[in-house]
Amino acid sequence: MLKICVFCGSSMGYGNEYRDAARKVGEFFAANNIELVYGGADVGLMKVMADTMLEKGSHVIGVMPGHLVDRGVVHHNLSQLITVETMAERKQKMVELSDGFIALPGGFGTLDELSEILTFNQLRISDKPLGILNIKHYFDHLLQFIDHAADVGFVRKEHRDNIIVSDDIAELITKMNDYNPLEIGKWIADIKVESNHK
Ligand code: AMP
Repeated sequence: MLKICVFCGSSMGYGNEYRDAARKVGEFFAANNIELVYGGADVGLMKVMADTMLEKGSHVIGVMPGHLVDRGVVHHNLSQLITVETMAERKQKMVELSDGFIALPGGFGTLDELSEILTFNQLRISDKPLGILNIKHYFDHLLQFIDHAADVGFVRKEHRDNIIVSDDIAELITKMNDYNPLEIGKWIADIKVESNHK
């Protein structure tokens, strides 16, 4: 994979382990000639990762809506900054540019981006893998919730199983390289049948 989009916190999280992990991701990308696409901010785990890569001379692309640039959170030393109008347009641009996506710990912004890619993948709007880097079990509760959603029939089991998870960046990328997009026809047929049962 040549370009990976990372979704992660505009905050640092408590303690050092989250920053250390973001730094490690930056180092891994730099060592493996992977370009970073991200939100373009100069704050939180986003900053740690971008700075680590820029220090090593790697290519970092930020994609940011103009209103956030005006708020002064933009990183000023990026290899490339793409300014867009809206948050929705930004996600579209990130999908266009990237070969895959990784979520690191983050808040609502990260959860929104992660869910949108999963939705794009289940609808085959995009066919690019999403990996969750489960640092310090950060995503365990979310994964448990998704398991529950699958158990009670709101997430299809195959869509749940297609979420790639690891706490190790090298392993995560290896698994992402083996990603198989799921066929959409059967799922749509199944939900139609289910909806016709009274
Ligand atoms: P959060 O997880 O709520 O901290 O939001 C971080 C995620 O949402 C990142 O992956 C960004 O793409 C996006 N985002 C949220 N806030 C900002 C910001 N101030 N600057 C750039 N991107 C942001």
